[in-house]
Amino acid sequence: MLIADDIEYYKNIRNYNKPSETPYKFNTKTHYGCPYDCGLCPDHEQHSCLTIIEITDRCNLTCPTCYAGSSPTHGRHRTFEEVKTMLDTIVENEKEPDVVQISGGEPTLHPHFFEILDYAKTLPIKHLMVNTNGLEIAKDFEFARRLKSYSPDFEIYLQFDSFKEEALFSLRGANLKKTREKAIQNLNELNLSTTLVVTLQKGLNDDEIGKIIDYALKQKCVRGVTFQPTQIAGRHNNFNHETDRITLTEVRRKILEQTEIFNPDDLIPVPCNPDALAMGYVLKLEGNIIPLTRYINPADLLDNSKNTIVYEQDKELHRKMFEIFSTGTSTDKASSKLHSLLCCLPFVEAPKLSYDNLFRIIIMQFIDAHNFDVRAIKKSCVHIVNKDNKIIPFETMNLFYRDNKKEYLEILKSQSI
Ligand code: SF4
Ligand code: SF4
Repeated sequence: MLIADDIEYYKNIRNYNKPSETPYKFNTKTHYGCPYDCGLCPDHEQHSCLTIIEITDRCNLTCPTCYAGSSPTHGRHRTFEEVKTMLDTIVENEKEPDVVQISGGEPTLHPHFFEILDYAKTLPIKHLMVNTNGLEIAKDFEFARRLKSYSPDFEIYLQFDSFKEEALFSLRGANLKKTREKAIQNLNELNLSTTLVVTLQKGLNDDEIGKIIDYALKQKCVRGVTFQPTQIAGRHNNFNHETDRITLTEVRRKILEQTEIFNPDDLIPVPCNPDALAMGYVLKLEGNIIPLTRYINPADLLDNSKNTIVYEQDKELHRKMFEIFSTGTSTDKASSKLHSLLCCLPFVEAPKLSYDNLFRIIIMQFIDAHNFDVRAIKKSCVHIVNKDNKIIPFETMNLFYRDNKKEYLEILKSQSI
């Protein structure tokens, strides 16, 4: 199975390696070995840059592609008390969690949705996100306005896969074109920070990558686009894993081919989890689009590079670089960090930046059975807090720990004793 189509980039990933950063607390012991001790267990090499909390299994869609297998009748809402305990678990593990994403199912359907947001806002969470299909935001402007009241440090992570009816039907089982337009209209009116999230399937919507970036750059509320190649886990009714799977390097190449904006130095591996994540920043200044990563000189992020003169000699500068190229830093937060970084560089005149000026592209390829690699899994930095108050990497959750898979895993474990 193809794991990358760009040998040079793939080999270079090994150089982007940030030293391990562990959470304050581990929740399990290392016993069976990875990936059977999730956790997090003490073998895990990254803390939670982003923790997802699934407050419900229910959804108002039944997407043919859904890693959680959600639907209007699937599972149940977590109780408010359960959700509070799950949020508390994240805080116990991380002390001051970087990013917490309220997710589902469709979280806006939860009967205590706003109470959950209220509670989350009382906790020392640096940045809160709501992962949504946007139906409620499109339908009800007052609902969107209420969401805006949680800003700053609050963001909508909006499902946005395609402009094509056929692709939307294939991925979502519904023509959501008008819904997306209305949701963006409402979010623009409120200037509520939004990241567009695009699930990619080869041959279905990978020809729209450039068009989606161009569209996103024109929307006031949109701070970036995250491209997620389909992880082969959960429900995949219209997916052939032999022909429809797309890798991180293919997505990166298509971004370079389908936009005028980027060159290869603009989209680089993210040091905390370089196998799974690539990132690039763009400045939006007075109608101009300026790719930024190339000026930062990505070679200086490398561990073993001979070019590490500037950053290696200046530890503070090096730390700031890592902070910016991390999923634990939201685009809103990155603007101030970037400004202070640019001020330190002799070759860039630092403009006055606000979060309106910064735009971020992320490619997030969640490992699945086709490219499973224990070394890379241990560096996963996107985690889910599950119903049992364990913190589980997103990838292993969907592959081994979700619903009936967990029961099967327990049987395997009992046989191995
Ligand atoms: S994925 Fe991480 S938490 Fe899970 S078993 Fe492996 S090292 Fe431990
Ligand atoms: S992918 Fe999202 S919107 Fe679709 S059914 Fe699953 S939870 Fe609902």
